[in-house]
Amino acid sequence: MASNEIAALADGEAGMTVARALQDSLAPGEVAVDVPLASLGRWRIGGPADVVVTPASAESLAAALAIVTRHGARHIVIGDGSNLLFDDAGFRGVVIRIGRALGGVTFRGDGVVDAGAGVWVPTFVRQVIDAGLSGAVHAIGIPGTLGGLITMNGGSQRKGIGENVVHVDAIDHQGGTHRIDHAALDYSYRASRLQRGDLIVVSARLRFDAGDAGAMRREAISILQSRRAKFPKVRANCGSVFVSDPKLYSLIGPPGLAIERAGLKGTREGGAQISPDHANFIVNNGGALARDVLHLIRLARRSVTAMSGIAMDAEVRHLAPDGTMRPAHEVAEQLDERPHTGA
Ligand SMILES: Cc1cc2nc3c(=O)[nH]c(=O)nc-3n(C[C@H](O)[C@H](O)[C@H](O)COP(=O)(O)OP(=O)(O)OC[C@H]3O[C@@H](n4cnc5c(N)ncnc54)[C@H](O)[C@@H]3O)c2cc1C
Repeated sequence: MASNEIAALADGEAGMTVARALQDSLAPGEVAVDVPLASLGRWRIGGPADVVVTPASAESLAAALAIVTRHGARHIVIGDGSNLLFDDAGFRGVVIRIGRALGGVTFRGDGVVDAGAGVWVPTFVRQVIDAGLSGAVHAIGIPGTLGGLITMNGGSQRKGIGENVVHVDAIDHQGGTHRIDHAALDYSYRASRLQRGDLIVVSARLRFDAGDAGAMRREAISILQSRRAKFPKVRANCGSVFVSDPKLYSLIGPPGLAIERAGLKGTREGGAQISPDHANFIVNNGGALARDVLHLIRLARRSVTAMSGIAMDAEVRHLAPDGTMRPAHEVAEQLDERPHTGA
């Protein structure tokens, strides 16, 4: 690692030491320095992260956490970055990225499945279907890790994976291990206590009912076809930006329809655009900044509030350079009002 790359770490000497300690203890492919966050998120937006660790095993994850804790280094956890808006200024600290290496799936019988947090959701759902278990099909088209899905209580057709979670095994940022039962996960629509960000999900136990694999395969194909027809093609995006609100739903419909009714479908800011295909998606047409996306989030939220009296909350989370992760609308509402030059 070049010394100027090491110097980019926010905490100066401490940062240099933690980067070197990680590189000394983990395999070369597990640690990268000065990584553009745009390369880690589906929106293809974001400045550099000082260090990214992609543990190749649970042991590497534990070793990395022990090092960052010993050095008091700022760190956050991500999966596939499919629900994250990375800041234009990047992140000053260590990103721990839970990937496929932590993704084994074991069928225990009686509908019980143990799975690693890094398994890709569509792969996981296919395996559950092949095992003749029902309840996961709704998640077939979601392009994230199981750990991200469990944290976001992700799903489709108004279902959430939380319904099937029996417990999660997680590590806190000091390296302590925890088993958290379903009740303590505080699941609600697209939300869970895991969004507090104090725990890293390593694996989970889920339970499903018995089902007809053939019928579920047909259902999965039909869900994928309908998603392909509805959702934006080609352009980088992070899925639905706003969470559906029951009051807004009964008054107007889902967020996409409300944004469309507000006349904003296709609206552009810099390189970002409210998708002309589906107004609850914001696409990166090339060179979009996080600031452009936040501007559109604020515009959509304020316009829908003015029209309906209901303020939509973002499902997408924003990562600030200091590691704060919040629903993106909270950050969008704090954007300054000066005209945006795109600089
Ligand atoms: C095209 C597209 C379509 C989408 N469709 C849907 C959909 O239909 N339904 C839906 O619910 N979502 C959808 N999403 C959003 C997204 O895919 C899901 O929220 C997904 O589950 C996030 O997983 P991830 O691994 O990418 O998490 P990330 O985006 O990396 O992280 C999301 C949050 O989870 C936390 N996190 C991630 N992994 C862990 C872990 N192991 N331990 C603790 N915290 C963790 C992060 O800190 C962050 O707060 C879509 C996204 C895209 C791009």
